[in-house]
Amino acid sequence: METDILIVGSGCSGLYCALCLPPSLQITILTKSDRESNDSFLAQGGMCTLKAESDYGCYFEDTLRAGHYENDKTSVELMIRSSRNVVRDLVAYGVDFQREEDGSFAYTREGGHSEKRILFHKDVTGREITSKLLTQVQKRQNITLLEHTELLDIISRGNTCLGAVIRNPEGDLQTVSSSFTVLATGGIGGLFRHSTNFRHLTGDALAIAIRHRIALKNINYIQIHPTTFYSPGNKDRSFLISESVRGEGAKLYGKDMKRFVNELLPRDQLTAAIYEQMKKDGSDFVWEDLRTIPPEELNSHFPNIVAHCSKMGYDVTKECIPVVPSQHYFMGGIQVNHQSRTSMSRLYAVGETACNGVHGKNRLASNSLLESLVFAGRAAKDMTKDLKTVKKESLPADLPLSPYENYEAFREHEKNAVLKAIEKAEKENTAEEKSAFLTNLV
Ligand SMILES: Cc1cc2nc3c(=O)[nH]c(=O)nc-3n(C[C@H](O)[C@H](O)[C@H](O)COP(=O)(O)OP(=O)(O)OC[C@H]3O[C@@H](n4cnc5c(N)ncnc54)[C@H](O)[C@@H]3O)c2cc1C
Repeated sequence: METDILIVGSGCSGLYCALCLPPSLQITILTKSDRESNDSFLAQGGMCTLKAESDYGCYFEDTLRAGHYENDKTSVELMIRSSRNVVRDLVAYGVDFQREEDGSFAYTREGGHSEKRILFHKDVTGREITSKLLTQVQKRQNITLLEHTELLDIISRGNTCLGAVIRNPEGDLQTVSSSFTVLATGGIGGLFRHSTNFRHLTGDALAIAIRHRIALKNINYIQIHPTTFYSPGNKDRSFLISESVRGEGAKLYGKDMKRFVNELLPRDQLTAAIYEQMKKDGSDFVWEDLRTIPPEELNSHFPNIVAHCSKMGYDVTKECIPVVPSQHYFMGGIQVNHQSRTSMSRLYAVGETACNGVHGKNRLASNSLLESLVFAGRAAKDMTKDLKTVKKESLPADLPLSPYENYEAFREHEKNAVLKAIEKAEKENTAEEKSAFLTNLV
């Protein structure tokens, strides 16, 4: 198969990247699952934006404080400064952010934010954004989206990416030749016992990077979400109780039904406090009280959460719900520059699988959709600039496909390679007993 640009992943970063490329190019998007099964569809809370020039300094500082000041300041600046353009594009694609009565945007707040600056659509902001991007992609004649088609490896010559080895829905192997390849494969939650991520997100691009010696960065920077619905023995995706619920006033209690923490602490600090309380209580969860939020607000702003809790047997207007921390987000990843270029020529990485340093050691809530979109747009711009000078090269004729033939063994090997690299990075940097996630790995 031949294509101008190969994009791996149909989450918000892959789709937006495709939409920002010239319509004269042949673009192929692959997704391991169906087109809607990605974390972008799950985002509940919202997407940050620079709501007014006067908030710039405060937003910048909140992002850095949450990131323990390990953030790449240029990346943060680019993200914040580009936010209004991204919002404008999204609105043009039909994204319906919540508005005030006068028609201006309504904003909400989450942990770590000192201001309300998060755009939202009920508690399904990710679905609203990503479904509208998908609709646009489906309208474009130049974009082909292949579902249940999986990237197994990239093909390189020297330090240049020439294309990929993929597995189609029938299980057959194919090679793809492309001028540029974009890794938009999302997070790594599938490597963890408890995670809010889709199970098929297993850091496949990281395994490829390890094999091809492509630079990685901070791969032990993994965020645990403090509050996911606790269901005993549940091996499925953990259901998130969004941070904006706490932003709107929900409280956390220990076994004695007394508050033990400031609910709006940044995620890592709150997670640590919850683990400590669970240890003290000898319990597998703490309680979250949503009764502090007026029922009309609960039903209009958080209908999805209310419905899920009800399905699990809890009426949030009358009783507390059990919550527990789960793996949630990957701050580290494939190292990229401000144009989303990896250390391999003609290979880009965007979205959660990439690390441009925006989040530092810990992500500020609702910065990831924005970061994914901003840096996917930057990758598209960079590729467009270079297209005239890049020529598609023929793939090696003798490329051996035998290493990929035993699919199960190949995937197991890939998973172990990523786990080993993460554990190594974590052990080099943190004492094991202090690690929030080493014990949670599959
Ligand atoms: C429950 C939940 C709530 C969240 N809430 C928010 C929020 O309110 N605000 C916010 O800013 N962020 C939030 N996030 C984080 C945010 O949703 C993600 O960081 C962001 O959507 C990542 O987008 P992405 O395009 O990088 O990856 P994804 O949207 O996860 O897409 C990854 C894509 O890669 C594909 N893929 C993976 N491996 C392969 C392979 N080998 N071959 C082919 N395809 C492959 C997948 O099938 C998928 O299509 C939330 C995350 C979760 C899980």
